[in-house]
Amino acid sequence: MGNSQMAIPGAPEHGASSAKEQKSLHGLGSSALKSAGIRRQEAFHGVLERRRAERPRKKPLRVMKFGGTSVGDAACIARVVDIIQAELHESNPVVVVSAMSGVTNKLVAAARAAESGDRKTVARIFEALRAQHEQAAGILIHSSVRLKRIACTMRNIFREADALCKGTILLRELTPRALDAISSLGERLSVPLVAAALAERGVASKAIDATDLVVTDSSHGKAEPLMDLTRERCKARVRPLLDQGIVPVLTGFIGATVEGLVTTLGRNGSDYSATILGAALDAQDVVIWSDVDGVLTVDPRLVPGVTTIPEISYREAAELAYFGAKVLHPKTLRPVMQSGTPIWIRNTFAPQGRGTKITPDAHLSGGGVKALSAIGDVTLITVGGPGFAGVPGVLGRIFQTTSAIQADILLISQSSSQNRICLVVSSAVAGSAVEGLRREFASDLALETAEHITFDPHVAIVAVVGEKLRGVSGIAGRMFGALDRDNVNVIAIAQGSSECSISFLVAQKDVKTALIATHRELGLGVQDSTAAP
Ligand code: ADP
Ligand code: ASP
Ligand code: MG
Repeated sequence: MGNSQMAIPGAPEHGASSAKEQKSLHGLGSSALKSAGIRRQEAFHGVLERRRAERPRKKPLRVMKFGGTSVGDAACIARVVDIIQAELHESNPVVVVSAMSGVTNKLVAAARAAESGDRKTVARIFEALRAQHEQAAGILIHSSVRLKRIACTMRNIFREADALCKGTILLRELTPRALDAISSLGERLSVPLVAAALAERGVASKAIDATDLVVTDSSHGKAEPLMDLTRERCKARVRPLLDQGIVPVLTGFIGATVEGLVTTLGRNGSDYSATILGAALDAQDVVIWSDVDGVLTVDPRLVPGVTTIPEISYREAAELAYFGAKVLHPKTLRPVMQSGTPIWIRNTFAPQGRGTKITPDAHLSGGGVKALSAIGDVTLITVGGPGFAGVPGVLGRIFQTTSAIQADILLISQSSSQNRICLVVSSAVAGSAVEGLRREFASDLALETAEHITFDPHVAIVAVVGEKLRGVSGIAGRMFGALDRDNVNVIAIAQGSSECSISFLVAQKDVKTALIATHRELGLGVQDSTAAP
C-alpha cells in the first residue's frame, strides 16, 4: 500500500501544518526572495525540510479494528500485518481484533450444547477450533520460541474452555456469565496470533486482553463501558507501550466488570470496542477494516450494483446500523459523539480504496437519501380492534409493559381512532412482550371474545436513511409508487423522530424486492447514475 492511501485518514493533520508553513512563507516579500536568488517554491520546500529536521513529527494515535473476515485465516492475517506495517509510517496504531470469522458462532453453539449435556458436540467443536488456530499459527509463525509461547497460550485457553463447558454440562445450566466467558474465547485466541504474526515481521507488538482495560457494568451479553475507569486503565497500560514503539493488539468484543468477571458488549461488538478504546485514548481517528469498500448504499448481499458512500454523518450511520446494516454495531458511534472523532470504514481486501468517512456532520450529497437497510428477525404486534374503543391510556400502558421487559420498540404506528396500534419489536423479546401485553389488558378485554393482541413474526423493517429527509419532497411518493409497481405490500410506515429515516414494514418474503425497487427508484446504485433525479 502506498503512502498516499495510508495518508487518507490523517489528511487534515498534515494539511494543517503545511498551511501554517505556507502562510509564514507568504509573509516574505517576493523581492526579498528574488534578492536572495531563491524562487518562491524552492524556498517553501527548504523551510519545510528544515522544520521537519528540527522537530520530528509526533505521530497521531489511530485505532485500527479488524473484523472476523479480516482475520479469517492465515492469509488474511498476513494482509492485516501488511496494513499495520504500512501504517507505522503514518501513526501510532492501536490494533483491535475480532475472533476469526465464524468462531464466536461455534463457541456459542458449544455453550448451548453443553447446556443440553451434549458432550460429543462440545468436544467436536473445540477440536475443530483447536485445529483451525493451530493451523494458522503454523503458517504464520516460524520462530520456535514464538511457536512454543503461542502453543502454551492456546493450551491454557482451551483448558479454560473445557472447564467452563464441564461446569455447564454438570449443572445443565448456561448462565449469562458463563455464556460470556465461553464466547469471549475467540478474541482471546485471535489476538495472540495477530501479535505474534506482527513480531515475525519485526514489528514490536503486545497482545492485551481487553478484560484488563475495558471496565463494564455487569449486563452480560450487552455490557456497557464505565468510561472513567476504562480511560484510566487505557492510559496506564496502553500509552507506555506506544511511547516505547510497541503496537498494542487488543481483543475486541469483551471487557470485564470491576470485580474482574468477563463480559461481552453484544454480538458484532468489536466495532463498539474500537470506539470505546478510541475515546478512552483520545485517538485522532478510528479505522474499521472490514470486507466491504466502506458504507455501501445497501447490503451488497441483497442488492446488486451498490455504491460506496464517501462520507456519511454520525446520525446517518447510527440509523443505518440501528436498522440492521451489519457493517457497524449499532452502538459504535456513542463513545465518539462528544469528541467528534472521525470513523473510517475501509476494506482489508482492497486497502488502496479510500473507504467511507463518518463525521459528526457529513456534507449533504444530492437529494438527501444516502442508503437503505433492512432488519429481519422482528415481530409485528398488533394491539387493537373494536374492543379497544374507550380503553384508557393504551399507548402509555403499552410503553410501560415493553419497557418493563426491556423490549426496544423499533417501529410504532397508530390508527387515528386509537383502536389499532402496530408495534414492531425484535423477535427475541416478542414472546414476553405479547404475554405482558395480554396480562396488562386482560381485565379490559375480559368480556370480549375476539383476539385483540396478535403477532406476526414473518415481517421485516426497511429503512431509508439520509439527513434532513423531510426537506426533500417526493421521496415517499416515488418510493411507495415503486413498491406498488413491484407488488410489495407496505404494512406500516413511520418517520424516525430524528428526521433522518423513514421506515416501513413489509412481509419478510418481500424484503429483497423492496430493497431492489427502492434502491433503483431513488437512484442509489451504479446502474442508476443516468436515472432521472
Ligand atoms: P466484520 O467481520 O468486519 O465485523 P461484518 O460481517 O460484521 O464484518 O460487517 C460487514 C458486512 O456488513 C458486509 O460484508 C456486508 O454484507 C454487511 N452490510 C450490511 N449493510 C451494509 C452496508 N450498508 N454497507 C456495507 N456493508 C453492509
Ligand atoms: N466475535 C464477535 C462476534 O462474532 C464480535 C465481533 O466480531 O465484532 O459477534
Ligand atoms: Mg462486524
